[in-house]
Amino acid sequence: MLVAHHRVLRGKEHGRAKQWAVLVTGCPECGAPAEPHSCEELFHVVLALDHSRRPPRGPLHGVTVSCFLLQHPSRLPAPDRARTWAILHAYVNEGLTAVTRLTEGMRRANSHQNRAAALPDIVTGVPTPPLGPTPTAFSVTINDVAQDGTFPAVGFPERVNAWATATVAGWRSQ
Ligand SMILES: [Zn+2]
Repeated sequence: MLVAHHRVLRGKEHGRAKQWAVLVTGCPECGAPAEPHSCEELFHVVLALDHSRRPPRGPLHGVTVSCFLLQHPSRLPAPDRARTWAILHAYVNEGLTAVTRLTEGMRRANSHQNRAAALPDIVTGVPTPPLGPTPTAFSVTINDVAQDGTFPAVGFPERVNAWATATVAGWRSQ
């Protein structure tokens, strides 16, 4: 994405081209603008809010993390994508109650130290995780959820919903 931008700008007047190159620089994984806050910075902000455990952010913690990881898959080894994908899938299709049911099932499976064997049963009906080329842009990113960088509580669930939907759609369109 960035390479394409730079190629377009190369023919233009030098000073202005340089200014533009800074403006179009974004996250190479999700396509969000890198300024004024990088995705990494925003992720730390939302994690701190999640850990307060207060609605609306706390209950959406698993969904928030799953969206971020699937939009930044360099942080998520392929074998771990099944779980993350299943969480988002459950949320987009059936809502937060389904996510709670799923994560509780996973927790039980973990406590039996039978994680690898138990996972396929838990995620019955969920399509296999995306294995195609990794998307590099999504219609909704963490930057949209953060708004001014503070993840305002008003409208937060709706923005996370749009983020989750865009994440699933981005991977499915491969
Ligand atoms: Zn990003």
